Amino acid sequence: MTAQPTIGVLAVQGDVREHLHAVQQAGAQGTTVRRPRELAEVDALIIPGGESTTMDKLVRAFDLHGPLRERLAAGMPAYGSCAGMIMLADRIADARPDQQTLGGLDITVRRNAFGRQVDSFEEDIHFAGVDGTVRAIFIRAPWVEEASESVEVLARVEEGPAAGRIVAVRQGPLLATSFHPEVSGDHRVHGLFVEIVRNYLVEGKQ
Ligand code: GLN
Repeated sequence: MTAQPTIGVLAVQGDVREHLHAVQQAGAQGTTVRRPRELAEVDALIIPGGESTTMDKLVRAFDLHGPLRERLAAGMPAYGSCAGMIMLADRIADARPDQQTLGGLDITVRRNAFGRQVDSFEEDIHFAGVDGTVRAIFIRAPWVEEASESVEVLARVEEGPAAGRIVAVRQGPLLATSFHPEVSGDHRVHGLFVEIVRNYLVEGKQ
């Protein structure tokens, strides 16, 4: 019924190729976004992981900070993974003094929340809207420390000292995960995002 949505992947840092591949596997068209002109052409955007303080600086250096905030405020669907989650959060618990986010998700995130000992780890977790479990790969990941009532919690850590911590959320057209589904070869989280994008296009909520 609808044409394939075009999903941009913010290409200033991170797993750009892997996200493009996952988007294509999930049935959408993927393209890189590095310029305001490219942002204007996409239906939705993925913000990959990386280092949120650096990404914040790069987004401003590429003159994308204002255009990104505008598109997000206008209801563009977006999916942020790891540092991308931080970029979409309204609040950071331990931000660098000059660190800014794009905002949109009514959550507080804590950067590098799992601590140095468990810098990177993997766990199978349940994810609302996805059958079975998802292999969640965490790399110096944030967690969601607080989420407002308008935020839907999709997944939590299930084992170990961080059990119960929120690691995936959705608020309207915005989706975020603390982990990196683009490197697991399982494209169901991207599939969920493509569904969100399709619904928003159909409902004209752009
Ligand atoms: N620790 C990084 C940050 O604070 C995020 C790590 C990642 O994206 N894999 O931005």
